Formats: sequence, structure tokens, C-alpha cells
Amino acid sequence: MSKIICVMLAGGKGKRMGTDVSKQYLMLEGKPVLFYSLKAFETYVDEIIVVAAKGEEEYCRQNIIEKYNIDKVKAVVTGGAERYLSVYEALKEIAKSYNAYNEEDTYVLIHDGARPFTSGETVKNIINVVKEKKACIAAVPSKDTVKIGNEAGVVQSTPDRRNVWIVQTPQAFEFSSIYKAYKVAIESGRSDITDDSMVMEAFGEYPIHFVNANYDNIKLTTPEDLLYAKAIIQGKNS
Ligand code: C5P
Repeated sequence: MSKIICVMLAGGKGKRMGTDVSKQYLMLEGKPVLFYSLKAFETYVDEIIVVAAKGEEEYCRQNIIEKYNIDKVKAVVTGGAERYLSVYEALKEIAKSYNAYNEEDTYVLIHDGARPFTSGETVKNIINVVKEKKACIAAVPSKDTVKIGNEAGVVQSTPDRRNVWIVQTPQAFEFSSIYKAYKVAIESGRSDITDDSMVMEAFGEYPIHFVNANYDNIKLTTPEDLLYAKAIIQGKNS
């Protein structure tokens, strides 16, 4: 029997949003952003580990997990100063509590708590693909042409748009392989990690497969994202 564990990241302070409340706790149509994110996964996974920012653990437990009865949450762990450090805290918790380090049939789906519109279809597809391929990420083909620039702000090259994807979460991996890869990355002092598949690319053993997701699987980052989020919710409710 395979085991599917979701790591739900809510350890950021969201400085780019410019609000007093961390972005995963902002309200959308009467419910917190993190509620929607957790709901998207609850039905499909066996367990959820939530990462909360230092000092927000109790707030998260009371105002989200207990209030909305998200029963599959097995632990709330304290996050680190950067996203990748928060992920590592959750992976260590899984290794400790679940003794899963060597179990090849344990999979972890890492998700941004500030990304509330992931469809059930995407979660199901990610689970099916990770069981077969061991590493996969939700993504959409880039609608725009992408340029690679240098530090002086000058264009260096233009990748073929047919091969350019915009990467989202969930990102899913066989647990033992992403845990080992993260351990090596962190012990080697890497500090430029902006998503989990980077760690698998650099230090892991499996090629990473794209799983087609939706363009509305957005991450709330800056204030205009909130306007877009309200429009998405209203569209879903109409
Ligand atoms: O800041 P950014 O938009 O990259 O955050 C993506 C996700 O990672 C958010 O859900 C945020 O709460 C989480 N995060 C975290 N720990 C950090 C920074 C971000 O769990 N130190």
C-alpha cells in the first residue's frame, strides 16, 4: 500500500503582499486562503503536515485546522527563514514520525499554502504520475515568450517557447529520494533554492515529469493577485 503525504507550506510572512496578516490567512469569500488549499488535498492524501511560521503555529492550529476540522493534519511544524528551509523541516518531521526514510512506496506532495485553487483533477493526476515516475510537478505551458538575461539587464538568449513551462505546485516525489536530495543540498550550503524540483534536478536520482495543470492555479504573492483570486472564486461559484 502506498502512502501519500501532503506538505502544506504556510510558513511565509508574505512581505510582497504588504498586508498585516500573512497571505495564507487572508480571507477570500469568508474563508482563509489556507482553508481552500487544504481542502483541495484532503480527499486525496493520507496525511498532511502543515508548516507554520515561528509564532503562528497555535494560530494556524486553532483558526484553520481545528475550526474547519481538517482531520488529516498529523502535525504542525515550525518553518524556517526561507521556503526551502520550511520544506526541509517538514521532510525531517516525516522521516522522524513515520520512519519512512527507506520506504519506497511513500510519496510526498509539496504545496504552497498560498495557492488555493488547485483542482482535484490536478491532485489526482500528480498522485498517479508520481507513483509511476517518482518525480513530477504541476505546470502550464508558457503563454509568453521568455528571455534569459544577464545581470546588466541585457538579453542573452530566447528559449524555444514550445519547451518553456511555468511551474506551480504541487510538486511530488518519492519521499526517500527527495529527503536525501534536500539533505545533500542543505548540507552543501545551497541557498538559491526556489522550488523543490531544483533540488531533485541537482541532487536527486529521478527525471522530473511535467503534469499539465490549470492557469488559475495561481500563488497569491502581490496585491493584484487578490483581485484575480476574487474573480476566480466568483467564477467558480457562478
Ligand atoms: O514567499 P513565496 O510566495 O515563495 O511562498 C510560497 C509558499 O511557501 C507560501 O505558501 C509560504 O507560506 C511558504 N513559505 C514557507 N516558509 C518560508 C517562506 C515561504 O513555508 N520561509
